[in-house]
Amino acid sequence: MTLDQYRPFVGPSTLRELRWLAEHLNGRRICCVNATKTGGGVAEILHRMIPLLRELGLDVWWEVLEGHPAFYQATKKLHNALHGKPETLTPEMQQTLIEVNQRNLSRLNLDADIVFIHDPQPIALVEARRQVGRHWLWRCHIDLTYAQRDAWEFLRPYVQRYDAAVYSAPAFARPLAIRQILIAPSIDPLSDKNKELSPETINDVFAHLGIPQDRPIVTQVSRFDYLKDPIGVVEAFRLVRRSIRCRLVLAGGPASDDPEGEEILAKVRERVGSDPDIHLLMLPPDSHTEINALQRGSTVIVQKSLREGFGLTVAEALWKGKSVVASAVGGIPLQVKHRYSGLLVHSIEGAAHAIKQCLRNPEFAKQLGENGREHVRQNFLLTRHLRDYLMMFLTLGRSEDMMTLNGS
Ligand code: UDP
Repeated sequence: MTLDQYRPFVGPSTLRELRWLAEHLNGRRICCVNATKTGGGVAEILHRMIPLLRELGLDVWWEVLEGHPAFYQATKKLHNALHGKPETLTPEMQQTLIEVNQRNLSRLNLDADIVFIHDPQPIALVEARRQVGRHWLWRCHIDLTYAQRDAWEFLRPYVQRYDAAVYSAPAFARPLAIRQILIAPSIDPLSDKNKELSPETINDVFAHLGIPQDRPIVTQVSRFDYLKDPIGVVEAFRLVRRSIRCRLVLAGGPASDDPEGEEILAKVRERVGSDPDIHLLMLPPDSHTEINALQRGSTVIVQKSLREGFGLTVAEALWKGKSVVASAVGGIPLQVKHRYSGLLVHSIEGAAHAIKQCLRNPEFAKQLGENGREHVRQNFLLTRHLRDYLMMFLTLGRSEDMMTLNGS
């Protein structure tokens, strides 16, 4: 994959702009840090973004925090509390979080012009900023709209030590003394997850996964996480099926930093029982073509999250021209404009009603999908995301350069 391959989607001027911006960064050294190489949206983006930043002449590398089960239990609690779930982060858990960060300091190479920390797990690495790294950025992918106060208060002293905090949606900004920057995530139209697929490939995937294509298919692709509300999706589907014969696919996979997946999957299994119309799939982390085919072969894509930082799965579905029914939470309304690029919902009943609308009105559903694809093309492709990051990197250098110029 090279930048030139994006020309058909975004035109030559976008690529010229990216190269021009990158030239001004003079091969700057950038270290990205997160908590997992596979599973979830952050890893998905870093895998696609880093090769392009390198092609643009930046010296970028990716470090992954190393933890242990107690650490991932604690970070998951913190994650849930930041999403508004009433959870207590005990002093022991806080200590575990801090200790694992401290231990990682000796094994991670953070000697960069810009240390780009993703999400709360590695946030405390910033303790080392006097010794290593010139600029520090905190990239928050979490929906902070209803963050529990204690969880945020634990994070805040660390966040304050960064040059800037970067969020996906305006509602996530907090009262902070540092700069706060709004940058939406993106999808890669050239990845196996999003590239065009032939009807044969799509059919093969459905056959291989044992899902008959005899009826309309409603799908949600998500880690098995309570915040993705898989049980709510099952309930909504059952309301729909009272009047329309259809199938439901719930496709999920593990993330190495998410210890709750198995437990949630077990609860969903119990709720589904032996329902022959519901297909529960636990896919390996590299099932990109399978997910792509599932999304393309579905009639309606659902994302019934209770909270959502952005929801790459929504952008992925819109890009494939699908009608999307999604909760009006977090970053989703950036992507789904109600009745224009999908349907926004607020409840199980609302989701059922919206799914029925799409299934009963194919022309309406098609129009939503077409508008959605154009909305994604204009706003949520990787090239736009790259441009925003390059500009942010440039402004970091700029304030210091200006100070030097002014002799201060
Ligand atoms: N995904 C996947 N396999 C799965 C479930 C999800 O590859 O079984 C991908 C999905 O296609 C999307 C990303 O993981 O690209 C999830 O990102 P999103 O922002 O939707 O949610 P997150 O998991 O980061 O909360």
